[in-house]
Amino acid sequence: MATHIPIFPASVPVSAHISTPAPAATIIPSGDGTTPLRDTFQRPLRDLRISVTDRCNFRCTYCMPRETFGSDYAFLPHSALLRFEEITRLAKLFVAQGVQKIRITGGEPLLRKELEKLIEMLAVLQTPEGKSVELTLTTNGALLQKKARLLKEAGLTRLTVSLDALDDTVFRAMNDADYSVAEVLQGINTAHAVGFENIKINMVVKRGTNDQEILPFARHFKGSGHIARFIEYMDVGNSNQWQLEHVVPSRDVIARIHAEFPLTSLDANYTGEVAERWRYVDGSGEIGVISSVTQPFCGDCTRARLSTEGKLFTCLFASHGVDLGAPLRQGSDDAQLQNIITRCWQARDDRYSMLRSSGLQDGKKIEMSYIGG
Ligand code: SAM
Ligand code: SF4
Ligand code: SF4
Repeated sequence: MATHIPIFPASVPVSAHISTPAPAATIIPSGDGTTPLRDTFQRPLRDLRISVTDRCNFRCTYCMPRETFGSDYAFLPHSALLRFEEITRLAKLFVAQGVQKIRITGGEPLLRKELEKLIEMLAVLQTPEGKSVELTLTTNGALLQKKARLLKEAGLTRLTVSLDALDDTVFRAMNDADYSVAEVLQGINTAHAVGFENIKINMVVKRGTNDQEILPFARHFKGSGHIARFIEYMDVGNSNQWQLEHVVPSRDVIARIHAEFPLTSLDANYTGEVAERWRYVDGSGEIGVISSVTQPFCGDCTRARLSTEGKLFTCLFASHGVDLGAPLRQGSDDAQLQNIITRCWQARDDRYSMLRSSGLQDGKKIEMSYIGG
């Protein structure tokens, strides 16, 4: 199991709970990936999430509420988006620094034209030890039926689909867009048919909106080979009017499902896995819960995020990023870009979820649709 570090009481300094930060970071000139780059809490850099667009065809109330992301919202101009060659060049540098897993996200990544070409370019990346990089994608599934085969053929390894309800009315109340549950389910079926296995289906649970869907959702995917995962509603961005009362703790989700379909816990696949795994006692599959609010997992967080225009964020809740896109376009060479990545990661001391309960976290956060989930 991943080491879960408890939420800090307000009076206890955070550093007392994670190993003591290293003194002022020594700059490693460029990584060879065999000695992992470590942050101030000794967390290695292992995962990279790349946002390929800040746009979306949904307006999920917990992510891009229409009041904020309306027709007058200023999305990035096309020229600001990193081109596929630029993304690949940066991704290579991250892989050289120890990244083993890349997740393509957004916004809605399937809105990015010819995304399969980027997948093809990233699919050939290898770690310094000569292993293939795990390449995954998170999508709302609306365009999956059209895209699944192309993504598979391009070399995408795994797939996560977000789906917040099986009931159309509840689904629309969550995503505020004109898509049906059937379209997403069809996308999942197509993805399965073209060879994606163990597809993860993510449901963000919001009390009073879709929590009545927990059991039907578990029932629907039980025995399907897919992995239903229940995510605690988080206070990402500045526009979702988040309230703690709307969070259904994962332990309640597990209790509700366990009462009908007995469950037993499973070990994590690897250190730093965000989902806690459970399996049905009758052998009909696995589910997961992601407890970012009630059981923060900052202590094992090895994730960096690259925004659509090339800013590097070291936490989902960061207020600013370090620019890689501008220096890249101004002609910086690989060693210079690598140095920016190294310095940024070595200075990292993010642990927002752990600070949340203490009220110590500060300032305006970046929107999740911009840096990717
Ligand atoms: N558009 C794609 C999708 O929805 O799958 C990819 C981007 S989305 C930002 C990535 C993930 O973040 C989704 O699974 C979504 O449900 C999750 N997410 C967004 N806002 C959230 C929130 N406030 N709390 C918890 N999860 C959230
Ligand atoms: Fe779009 Fe995904 Fe955010 Fe929903 S969660 S608004 S689908 S980016
Ligand atoms: Fe990682 Fe930040 Fe989330 Fe903590 S709050 S798990 S540091 S992304």
